[in-house]
Amino acid sequence: MKKLSDLGAIAGKRVLLRCDFNVPIDNGEITDAGRIKAAIPTISWLRDNGAKVVIMSHLGRPQGEVVAKYSLAPVAKLLGELLGAKVRLAADVVGESAKSTVAELPDGGVALLENVRFEPGEESKDDAARMELATKYAEFGDAFVLDGFGVAHRKQASVYDIAKLLPSASGFLVLKEVEVLKRLTENPERPYVVVLGGAKVADKLAVIDNLLKTADTLIIGGGMAYTFLKSQGKDVGNSLLDAEKLDVVASYLEQAKASGKKILLPVDVVISKEFSPDGPIKVVDVDSIPSDWMGLDIGSETAALYAAEIAAAKTVFWNGPMGVFEMELFSKGTYEMAKALAESDSFNVVGGGDSAAAVRMLGFAENQFSHISTGGGASLEFLEGKALPGIEVVEG
Ligand code: AMP
Repeated sequence: MKKLSDLGAIAGKRVLLRCDFNVPIDNGEITDAGRIKAAIPTISWLRDNGAKVVIMSHLGRPQGEVVAKYSLAPVAKLLGELLGAKVRLAADVVGESAKSTVAELPDGGVALLENVRFEPGEESKDDAARMELATKYAEFGDAFVLDGFGVAHRKQASVYDIAKLLPSASGFLVLKEVEVLKRLTENPERPYVVVLGGAKVADKLAVIDNLLKTADTLIIGGGMAYTFLKSQGKDVGNSLLDAEKLDVVASYLEQAKASGKKILLPVDVVISKEFSPDGPIKVVDVDSIPSDWMGLDIGSETAALYAAEIAAAKTVFWNGPMGVFEMELFSKGTYEMAKALAESDSFNVVGGGDSAAAVRMLGFAENQFSHISTGGGASLEFLEGKALPGIEVVEG
């Protein structure tokens, strides 16, 4: 892969750097800085080598409009503290403020453009609209570096199109992520267990048939589980459900059976009437979810079954929390999985912003896991064996 050193001498040059600073923010405060910390080695290397560093990132989903709550201002502040250096935040993405901020940047200086998703061209499906915006980005750089692994699977102006316009390389974070994830795709030690949870049900259901080809066991929790349970004829009440995928999900269960793979589903769940942190809650087996309640975590019996499977595994990939871990009442399932993983001697990877934030929030240290990936969707697509457009275009 193309590395930073392949860019040649960068002293005095402007390097456009795509990071993924899409961090969770609550009341203007960053609640998990993992993705910002992960970008520091590349930023520091570029500064130490005398480059002017112009960073691009998105935050949230402002959908092509300027939305104040998605400003990168809290990110600029924290990044400055972590670097111990001034981070100049432009007031716009490619406007007058961005132009003057970049023009005034000293060697070794750091500028951050505003949220690239404030620009409608960034995520446009129209190639020409994306390229028009990428051409404006390209005016701010002599070279481009992709270090936002979390967006490497996105065909977006600041990830994909820009790399067609400037000499490009991957940063340290992208290289490290790819190296680790390759251990999962190229001959993983078996049993290889993939744990899937979270709320992006449609996205994650789509990856299951590919994962069934490589993994030995799939463990299903979080909002994902209810579509499976429903496909088995169970009443899931008001739980998250992808009603259009019931047949597909049933076919996965068949497919797994036919190929000697296991798909494990919850046997008990923690339910509540409201999506609220206050309860009341009940723990019921999956055949007894009342129609006006919803499942918000796996139950303790399920957690024990899943933990035993993890204990026996040699390789584990985990994407997506087992329940609504942000609320204490529904965080136990996720905690038990993190604990099982931390105690196992498997090679294990926790993937995805939410899963990574969950393990940190629940009090686990990064070094209790083999690797915490900054990319959720990107790591899943990599594991499926798909080429990530952002990386492909850098490689040329
Ligand atoms: P994802 O980005 O797909 O990994 O989803 C993460 C989110 O899934 C977290 O914010 C959790 O609160 C949420 N989540 C997990 N389990 C459930 C569930 N049973 N019902 C609703 N949301 C859930």
